Amino acid sequence: MYDVLVIGSANADLTVRVSRRPAPGETVPGTDLTESAGGKGANQAAAAARLGARTALLARVGDDAYGRLLLDAQRAAGTELRHVLVEPGARTGTAMIVVGPDGDNTIVVSPGANARLSPADVAAAREAVAGSAVVSLQWEVPPETVRAAARAAHEAGSRVVLNPSPVPRELDPELLAAADPLVVNEHEARQLAQASGGTPAQWAHALRERGARSVVVTLGPEGALVLGAEDAEPVAVPGIEVTAVDTTGAGDAFTGALAARLAAGDDVAEAARFAVRVGAASVTKPGAQPSYPTAAELQRAPG
Ligand code: ADP
Repeated sequence: MYDVLVIGSANADLTVRVSRRPAPGETVPGTDLTESAGGKGANQAAAAARLGARTALLARVGDDAYGRLLLDAQRAAGTELRHVLVEPGARTGTAMIVVGPDGDNTIVVSPGANARLSPADVAAAREAVAGSAVVSLQWEVPPETVRAAARAAHEAGSRVVLNPSPVPRELDPELLAAADPLVVNEHEARQLAQASGGTPAQWAHALRERGARSVVVTLGPEGALVLGAEDAEPVAVPGIEVTAVDTTGAGDAFTGALAARLAAGDDVAEAARFAVRVGAASVTKPGAQPSYPTAAELQRAPG
């Protein structure tokens, strides 16, 4: 049915750039506000769809201007929209993003309609779950929904890409066992491995020992580390040198691209090599979804 079904959040990203971050209690001036399409689920779907994968998104938005902005962006990316539920009276999720002078960002998310994405919504989409090569999940929707989606996908034999972000308090063994791969950035890897020190390779080993079938740790400009199901040691995928202007949504560009390549039959290391290029391309432009490359744009990008 689909190469990639993403089950997750859709947020309007409200972004301001600052030359200096405010300290607590302080006010600093910023640039004009930009409003663009974001949210981990919607971002990953847009990334996969723009690269040409047959992609659908299961998400909830409100019946408001931000909901329409998100639907327009998914339509433009080529995502199948029949599983996006528009909820009368609910606010669309929003992310308030402050981009600092180095392109780094801090984000506050107001979940809005994302909080209402339920296990019943997953059950209603069971044919799409079973009929998709890859089901991609993150943590901006209720944990019970993630759990229901992971179980349904796993039982149906669909490959689960699990991106526990923002980091949940705990990842139960059933969820970990479905992850092939678990995709985490460095901070998430360390937190989930419950390590105070150590290296990304050690955290990847710890997470596989706890049950993940395979693990990908993204390392920002350094690329990614891949520990496949059978690997004795992780494979390092080098980063691509670019000038970063805005890293918002880089991890989602990576994960959406990874899901698309896994659906096309790549192994995890091959898929990660491709996804590192997509992540790097995404940081060279402002915004999350507006920065994601098509396959043709990627060919012209560095790397
Ligand atoms: P997250 O956005 O989840 O924190 P990362 O910062 O690890 O995740 O970035 C995800 C991917 O995006 C990296 O693996 C890399 O491919 C790309 N990326 C991120 N930041 C940069 C950068 N400054 N230069 C080049 N590539 C980057």
